[in-house]
Amino acid sequence: MANDNKQGKLYLVGLGPGEAEYLTGAAMSALQESDVVVGFRAYIEQAGDLLAGKELVSMELGQEIERASKAVELAYAGRVVSVVSSGDAGIYGMSGPVFQVLNGLDWDGINPQVETVPGISAMQAAAALLGAPLMQDFCAISLSDLLTPWTAIEQRLKAAAQGDFVVALYNPRSRTRQWQLMEARRILLEHRSGKTPVGVVKDAFRPGQQVTITDLEGLEEIAEDINMVTTVVIGNSTTYVLQGHMATPRGYRDK
Ligand code: SAH
Repeated sequence: MANDNKQGKLYLVGLGPGEAEYLTGAAMSALQESDVVVGFRAYIEQAGDLLAGKELVSMELGQEIERASKAVELAYAGRVVSVVSSGDAGIYGMSGPVFQVLNGLDWDGINPQVETVPGISAMQAAAALLGAPLMQDFCAISLSDLLTPWTAIEQRLKAAAQGDFVVALYNPRSRTRQWQLMEARRILLEHRSGKTPVGVVKDAFRPGQQVTITDLEGLEEIAEDINMVTTVVIGNSTTYVLQGHMATPRGYRDK
């Protein structure tokens, strides 16, 4: 669509977990409509052909605010800009930095127009590959303490453990953050049996996809294989394993 009135537009676009089939039609339209696409190099490359002829602003890890500022600046200048994230842009993605930048300016809420295009988040992709683990109340916790102090993460882990939430762990383990996952396991084990099913999904809907089902006890053994392209789903007290699938019953009485 032409941007006739020169009003800028910012799309916050979730690309889904990987495979093009899991990119929504709306995400595709937003990318097609955009003059400029901003995001991590790897995600931009993933979108491939869709981006032919677009101006690309790629970024490296740690440049989120800088790139969000660049995107906002371009939109203020009347361009149509897509800021892309893997999964959903509003879940540990680029929407946060973009709103943070807008919050620091006197944005009138109208120009640039901001529109979010939801994507399939890692926890949904992982849940689909595992079976039906998110069937009762669940929460997502990121184990990255780069932007959030560990004391806050620890408190959320304790509350989730106590509340018997199914827990999806994002950013579970990296080269520089290794003890956090075992600490999360220890906290959960204070309230949950060692036999609680745990699903470990690596590279969901991408080449090299791996799906493993273990339990809280067994998580220690495979921790070394867990990295930043992995989502870990920890069951609640009713979650069970069925023929290689992990499921949580829908009802509370149905144990
Ligand atoms: N906005 C993204 C999350 C970004 S945080 C989303 O909504 O999915 C990055 C974390 O997401 C990774 O460390 C990993 O835990 C998870 N993740 C992203 N893509 C994944 C995939 N294809 N398979 C498994 N986990 C993934």
